Amino acid sequence: MAKTKEKKPYLTVNLPREWGPYLEEALLNPEIRKKLEIGEFTMTSSGLGNWVIREFLIHNTSFHYQHFNTYDDHATIIDNKIRRMIDIYPKEEIKELWCEYCDSTNCEHVKFARTVPKIMEPLEKKGWRTSKNLIE
Ligand SMILES: [Zn+2]
Repeated sequence: MAKTKEKKPYLTVNLPREWGPYLEEALLNPEIRKKLEIGEFTMTSSGLGNWVIREFLIHNTSFHYQHFNTYDDHATIIDNKIRRMIDIYPKEEIKELWCEYCDSTNCEHVKFARTVPKIMEPLEKKGWRTSKNLIE
């Protein structure tokens, strides 16, 4: 019988068994429980591990912001910290990007969008001058 190789939706992380009591202790902490609840994580070692690693990735990797898609009149990025899709619009009259969520042309979402070639290159073709700090 041929085994089909299907990608599991989760990675496995192993922790030393002796950490178990400390994970249980953390799960009894009201502040931690509140954060897990807000983030919709389960009140288990696995939920706690997910939350801790997610926070680490947001603060230490490019996971915080992701490009979702570029459309004719706007682009959508994902802010994983606040778990939202954010629409970014080009403001032709001032040749600036504008974030609908923050109502700003200078927020972190706009700063991120300026680094995304799939957002900036179509604007360069329309004659926008963009700084060349795009990350590939
Ligand atoms: Zn914003």
